[in-house]
Amino acid sequence: MSDPTVQPVPTAVVEQVDAADITLSNPKRAVIALGSNLGNRLETIQGAIDLLEDTPGVRVKAVSPVYETEPWGVEPGTQPSYFNAVVLVKTTLPPSSLLERGQAIEEAFDRVREERWGPRTIDVDIVAYADVVSSDPLLTLPHPRAHERAFVLAPWHDVEPEAQLPGLGGIAELLAGVGRTGVAPRVDLELRLPE
Ligand code: AMP
Repeated sequence: MSDPTVQPVPTAVVEQVDAADITLSNPKRAVIALGSNLGNRLETIQGAIDLLEDTPGVRVKAVSPVYETEPWGVEPGTQPSYFNAVVLVKTTLPPSSLLERGQAIEEAFDRVREERWGPRTIDVDIVAYADVVSSDPLLTLPHPRAHERAFVLAPWHDVEPEAQLPGLGGIAELLAGVGRTGVAPRVDLELRLPE
């Protein structure tokens, strides 16, 4: 039996309210790295950003410049280079749901994963989620290789120079240590912040 003192909530209104806009739900900051080396790389990364923004409980707050990166672990010249970018989001989703959403976006772009370092339409990595530190292999936070990847640190530094990688220090110092070899800014290209 339903409680007659409880007012029914109009479903349509509930669905229109984006959870990320409800201040009481305390959205968290997360950093997401995107990489693509198949097909139209810029369009794919933009599409992934738009799908993140379309996610209930996720708001894209900043989009980095685009970097072009030589692929790792393969014979030179056998694979196209990567385009890489970083987005900052605010989210009411827990880390596991944000990861699931990232994986659904990868699937939406039909990522082909036959070899570990093979070409990929889109790769979505959770670089950091608030101050969470976790060694869970399903979702390691911060991302276990973010601190040594210039293609993550350089675009992230462009949009948030003072940022810290939880437990690992400032990204400016980490980037200075890693260097920018093999990672070139593509100032001729631009990603859009979804409206
Ligand atoms: P990858 O081949 O780099 O796309 O790695 C995908 C796998 O890494 C998935 O099985 C994820 O569960 C796992 N994983 C662990 N930590 C993370 C993270 N921080 N971001 C994304 N995937 C992660």
